[in-house]
Amino acid sequence: MIDQHNRDINYLRISVTDRCNLRCLYCMPKEGLSLIGHDDILRYEEILKVIRVAVKLGISKIRITGGEPLVRRGIVDFIARLKSISGLNDVSLTTNGIRLEDYAERLYQAGMTRINISLDSLNPKKYAEITRGGDLEAVLRGIDRVYRASFSPIKINTVAIKGANDDEILDFARLTLDKPFQVRFIEMMALGRTAQNQNNLYLSNDVVMEKINRVYRLESVNGLNSKMDGPARRYRITGGTGEIGFISPVSHHFCHTCNRLRLTADGHLRACLLLDDEIDLKGSLRENCGDEALEILIKKTIAGKPRGHSLVVNEQHLRKCVKEMSSIGG
Ligand code: SAM
Ligand code: SF4
Repeated sequence: MIDQHNRDINYLRISVTDRCNLRCLYCMPKEGLSLIGHDDILRYEEILKVIRVAVKLGISKIRITGGEPLVRRGIVDFIARLKSISGLNDVSLTTNGIRLEDYAERLYQAGMTRINISLDSLNPKKYAEITRGGDLEAVLRGIDRVYRASFSPIKINTVAIKGANDDEILDFARLTLDKPFQVRFIEMMALGRTAQNQNNLYLSNDVVMEKINRVYRLESVNGLNSKMDGPARRYRITGGTGEIGFISPVSHHFCHTCNRLRLTADGHLRACLLLDDEIDLKGSLRENCGDEALEILIKKTIAGKPRGHSLVVNEQHLRKCVKEMSSIGG
């Protein structure tokens, strides 16, 4: 599916729940969010129907995300059912890792072999502060489990936060020295209600990279596996085993290469993370629509995919979208 800006749309990110067992300070307000009612969350059967039609249209890659996908009941069985969809050659999961220790083997057996784990601090106290109560040890045990279960790649996503984890950048970079982890630094985006006061937490990846460069030599590895590159600029510390990636939606927009659609937890299809235009699929799904009707809605979403967003570090442009990351699917 080629959109009007000549991008091949082949990637669907799916938020299976807006619920979460953490409250990361840049993602959710500390009191939590008014959650989508259970009846308004897409059922697994409905998500599978959307995926089947989307794959027919050219989607070949999906990511299961949330909220926290591992808090939704039945997630492993759902993932196992994805295997039966021919044409889907890349299925991955993004998790905060809190429950990973219990889920790693079952996920692997269900066919999930690629995983992204979000981890913003290696210091237990700071981790608990950033996530408002998370247990770092549980996440580290989860990472160890997926490593031993042979997941590949294992990506560790770290949102760089000024004044919170910017003194740990080298510690994260060192995780790639002797293990095949891909540590990716992500710039904080101002979304939803948590957008307020984020200006002073934002840290550009240029600063992160410079901190690493002062101590280690970074070699570019972009292009080695270009189909799977996504928006990350990828590097390796000379002699290191893993990789370091920089995902910079604010300082270096990558909209011109954006190949994504997003299915929200409440059944809307979104062409851009940062623009609130959405097309309702749930209404049609609940009326038991045929595949053709879904095809039309998916094509309509793609036709409306904007050329780009204008998210910049500037108060006037800060609050770009009203919905929170947890319901859109980060
Ligand atoms: N709960 C899972 C997790 O944390 O991995 C999956 C959902 S979470 C919304 C997906 C990713 O979005 C996480 O890596 C998180 O750090 C990132 N994220 C959330 N809010 C963000 C923001 N405002 N700016 C940049 N990344 C954000
Ligand atoms: Fe939950 Fe993930 Fe958002 Fe943190 S980033 S609050 S773990 S959904």
